[in-house]
Amino acid sequence: MEAQTGILTVVSGFSGSGKGTIMKRLLEKYPQNYALSISATTRAPRPGEVDGREYFFSTVERFEEMIQNDELLEYARYVNNYYGTPKAYVQEQLAMGKDVILEIEIQGALKIKQKYPDTVLLFVTPPSFEELERRLVGRGTEPPEVVRERLCRAGEECAGVEAYDYLIVNDELEACVEQVHSILQDEHAKISRNEIFINEIKKELAEYAKGERS
Ligand code: 5GP
Repeated sequence: MEAQTGILTVVSGFSGSGKGTIMKRLLEKYPQNYALSISATTRAPRPGEVDGREYFFSTVERFEEMIQNDELLEYARYVNNYYGTPKAYVQEQLAMGKDVILEIEIQGALKIKQKYPDTVLLFVTPPSFEELERRLVGRGTEPPEVVRERLCRAGEECAGVEAYDYLIVNDELEACVEQVHSILQDEHAKISRNEIFINEIKKELAEYAKGERS
């Protein structure tokens, strides 16, 4: 029986939703099942970020060349910078049967879903507005206008969320990790993702009914 290809999975969510931590833990726990895509971006690295680990940091010229050469699965502009998903790694990992996780914002997620309708879209949110506010404000060191700007951005970050398949309410890390894992395991069991297997069994049963198999 042919190995099943992996599932393309997109995770989005508010900054401060903890989506990055959930994905990191998911990969630590189930390294055989999942691969995380590394995006290219034109934004400058933040302190502690390493090229090729958090992102492939790129010039605008190189990024536009990748667009021209069709090297990206999708790309979007977000706060004056380009962000995009390099195609080659994703395709290679999917072919190896790994579920590939893209941690991207909504515009990119919707483009992916349109192009590849089998993609599973997950949206991560803190349990309440108050909790989101608390996580964005952090230790209360941010001036009120920064807090306001971040909360307004959060409003934009969930425009289009109706197109997502699953909501992950991030209350407790381990529970969320298990929820994501079990969603993806269930997705693998869907009949529509198992046509080759089903057709093979049907063929064998038909042969049996005709007396062609003992
Ligand atoms: P940050 O600059 O904070 O790392 O990321 C800003 C936003 O860009 C986040 O919402 C992140 O999920 C999104 N992002 C990161 N990589 C990609 C990508 O390859 N494509 C798209 N469309 N968005 C991305």
